[in-house]
Amino acid sequence: MDEIGRSPIDSLKNHLAERGPMSVGDYMAWCLTGSEAAYYRSGNPIGASGDFVTAPEVSQIFGELIAIWAYTVWQSMGMPRPFNLAELGPGRGTLMQDALRAARAMPGFIDAAQIHLVETSEALRAKQQQVLSAFCAPNWHQTVQAVPHEPLIVIANEFFDALPVEQHVFEKGSWHRRVVSLNAAGRPAFSTGRLAVPPVELMPPEPPREGDILEHRPSASALIAEFGRRAQSAPVAVLVADYGYERRDYGDTLQAVRTHGYANPLEAPGETDLSAHVNFAELTHAAESAGLNVWGPMPQSEFLLSLGLEARLRVLMSAARGEQRSALFLGARRLVDPFQMGNLFKVMAMTSRDLPPPAPFEARPALRG
Ligand code: SAH
Repeated sequence: MDEIGRSPIDSLKNHLAERGPMSVGDYMAWCLTGSEAAYYRSGNPIGASGDFVTAPEVSQIFGELIAIWAYTVWQSMGMPRPFNLAELGPGRGTLMQDALRAARAMPGFIDAAQIHLVETSEALRAKQQQVLSAFCAPNWHQTVQAVPHEPLIVIANEFFDALPVEQHVFEKGSWHRRVVSLNAAGRPAFSTGRLAVPPVELMPPEPPREGDILEHRPSASALIAEFGRRAQSAPVAVLVADYGYERRDYGDTLQAVRTHGYANPLEAPGETDLSAHVNFAELTHAAESAGLNVWGPMPQSEFLLSLGLEARLRVLMSAARGEQRSALFLGARRLVDPFQMGNLFKVMAMTSRDLPPPAPFEARPALRG
């Protein structure tokens, strides 16, 4: 139990003292969603006044183009009515709001769509309700399992990076779990836990060197397996946009962000955003094992430009004046500029075997990690 009135760091120390070391994944889960002190349980982390800014917060065009993507996928499913449109971790609801506003111009789509939001944060649920009430009556769920079956289109922007990663560290010729424990001074610190071999399919071709770290995300694979099960009885299409890497690799990507700057991941548990890069090779492996087709990943810039970012920007700019015009331009540029979000962020789709390649992935073969 987390004690009311205790600061998050004291509550963590207490937890570690009582129960011993926790894996990096358990630490991330504890900090983000799993304790009274959890980061995503309180406050409003996203946006200019929060800790970090996401693509839909940067430009309305992001959500608008995702609506086009979802609409074309729905068409390729044969326009089922009704169908489920689910978003994982909708944050402030901005992406869904922009998407549904754009979808008003798409015949039949909104009437057929039943909106499902998978969100653990009460504070963010309240924000989503406020922002979306003019567009739809969403259903909220704690987990994807609770979203009804039947045709399903899923959007996940910057969701997978918030799912816990486990880390393994290679020391003295063997793999060990990396853990968080109390050091001699009674402070939380990273240390080496028991012998544990990471999933072989994620190991890079080069052999590990002393101190190398390998990450994996069991909850991401479990989530994708759930989509695979659903795809056996109904069409399923999932769009993942996130920052990450495409090739199997070693490295510690766990990061803490607070008020738009990097922080120490152990310093302010529950008060700092924790995330880790998404390993798209891992998602690809999970999706293929689950019987899904995989498309991409492709750089976010390529995805957005192929779906018509420039044309949409021109329309918006022609109706805007002065500062609004430059804000529109700068926002769109930030999404696609390779030195900003264009390259680090990637987009990948997973679809049930019966569906044709979704736009704009038609011409690109899936990555082989
Ligand atoms: N997609 C949004 C927000 C990204 S932040 C955007 O692009 O702006 C991550 C979101 O995932 C938040 O809404 C957070 O509350 C939610 N979240 C984090 N971990 C979760 C979990 N395990 N289950 C459900 N939602 C989670």
